Amino acid sequence: MKAAALVAPGCVETIDVPCPEYGASDVLLRMTGVGLCGTDVALVGGARLAPGLPWILGHEGAGEIVAVGSAAGGRRVGERVAVEPNYCCRRCSACTRGFTSGCTDRVAVGLATPGVLAEYVAVPAAFVHAAADHVSTADLVCAEPLTVARTAIRRAKISKGDKCLVVGAGSQGLLVCACLAAAGITPYVQEPHEGRRALAASLGAVPLERSASDVDQVFETSGAPAALRAALRHVVPGGRITFIGMSSASLELSPHELVSRQLTLTGSLIYDHPHDFTGTIAALEDGAINPHRVLKAEFSLEDAGAAFAAVASTPGKCWINFGSSAN
Ligand SMILES: [Zn+2]
Ligand SMILES: [Zn+2]
Repeated sequence: MKAAALVAPGCVETIDVPCPEYGASDVLLRMTGVGLCGTDVALVGGARLAPGLPWILGHEGAGEIVAVGSAAGGRRVGERVAVEPNYCCRRCSACTRGFTSGCTDRVAVGLATPGVLAEYVAVPAAFVHAAADHVSTADLVCAEPLTVARTAIRRAKISKGDKCLVVGAGSQGLLVCACLAAAGITPYVQEPHEGRRALAASLGAVPLERSASDVDQVFETSGAPAALRAALRHVVPGGRITFIGMSSASLELSPHELVSRQLTLTGSLIYDHPHDFTGTIAALEDGAINPHRVLKAEFSLEDAGAAFAAVASTPGKCWINFGSSAN
């Protein structure tokens, strides 16, 4: 089968690899679409290290079940599914209290185990979520980053009437905007790039007025401390900043400022299994949200190298549509 892999630092190629074996508790998927994101680009660029080369990339996947392991009850051939690409252990103390994003044995697909940018992928049956046929493949491809966005909003504990600011309109910021708008909340946005700002506006986001000082909730998705520093000026006393963007740069915030303004800082990592993902699938089935609107550039599996090269300069997301593939 074909797979898109990192074959050398900075170099993605579509290569031939053996079809994966699937275990008793796994399902075998024929992939239909995979979204690309910053984590994949970090692997390609060398900011994160692949366990070995060649390394199959990708973690935001949708596919169709073509085989079911003997102990993978509840799943059937033909189901269209989204992959939940973080396999928590479901046994440790974090997992047993429902905080699976804090699992210390969590296996991240595409980072610790080969990714989903392949024609066939074996996935533990517990980590695929079936969607009704009317959910488009493009929407299903967005299920994973959409779940990251929905979970950050859940953890922010928004009160009715809260004014919400999204810092950064990369694909994750755009999805937070889309979720807020779908919930009837106006997303205010700060984004220096004109194309991303326009895309955010098409999802219902409004630029924040320069003089605003009434923001209750900030969602930081840019990973740029300078952007957050600027946004902090707009936050009310008692406001909350929820961090989704990963940056290793330090944030200049003194305990004096934190205490005197009574700010709450929340880090939101991925989502908790399984309810955050099943909630996303239900929202897609309801038609409450149409995240495919952030998919802006489509490539075939054969053109995966070009797709990765386009990620940084494309407002919105790049994705691989296996249906548009030559074979
Ligand atoms: Zn991602
Ligand atoms: Zn665990």
